[in-house]
Amino acid sequence: MSGGLLLVFLIGLLVGSFLNVLIDRIARNEKFVFGRSYCESCQHLLSWQDLIPLFSFIFLAGRCRYCRARIPFWLPVIELVTALVFVLVAWWFFELAWGLIFLGLIIASLLIVVFFTDLKYRLVYGIIIYPALLITLVYQIAIFGSWVGLISPLLASLATGLFFYLLYLLTKKRGLGFGDVQIGLLMGLLLGWPNIVVALYLAFLTGALTGIILIIAGRAKMKTAIAFGPFLVLATFIAWFAGGKLISLVTTCLFF
Ligand SMILES: [Zn+2]
Repeated sequence: MSGGLLLVFLIGLLVGSFLNVLIDRIARNEKFVFGRSYCESCQHLLSWQDLIPLFSFIFLAGRCRYCRARIPFWLPVIELVTALVFVLVAWWFFELAWGLIFLGLIIASLLIVVFFTDLKYRLVYGIIIYPALLITLVYQIAIFGSWVGLISPLLASLATGLFFYLLYLLTKKRGLGFGDVQIGLLMGLLLGWPNIVVALYLAFLTGALTGIILIIAGRAKMKTAIAFGPFLVLATFIAWFAGGKLISLVTTCLFF
């Protein structure tokens, strides 16, 4: 099992380095996701030794081999985050069929892209969200084995999307963005009832706390909107992995 997890970790690093390219090239509207990678500073094409996920960054001490410019620190962070999320997905869902774990890994990868495009560029992309909705639908059909099982995720998806859309209109598009509405649809579809409630609670709680901390630290004013997408995605991961456990923990605390 641990050998399997190490393999999943290494695959996660590789996928993470692909996600890095995807995140930056979508944001820059570059069409060629599979084009050769180059240094952002000196435009030198990178060789395979420069592109080993995580390890190249460590061996090169975080600097370009050719011009010594600093390699963006996002690169190893996103690679490491992806690898750790892959291990979590494989570990959490290990009793599921391989096909389901594979779909889970794709969904997790797309959530990571949503997290970092919103964090880095303050944007959420339909080109990521819509395929993610489709794959999540397939994942849910495969898990429940019937269309009836889809009722809960579909209702949760519509309810969350509608709720966010109302907030988007009420805050005159300055509180929530339309990207958050799209993320809401995806969250509901992946989590269903009642896990979606756990995710929304965690997202609003952590988002509000972070806002307050930033205001106290003088980093943000009341008017500075912080990207909400990363909080939504983080809460989605927590509710996806541990929603059931959190709900039973809270009900136990309430009734005993
Ligand atoms: Zn360079």
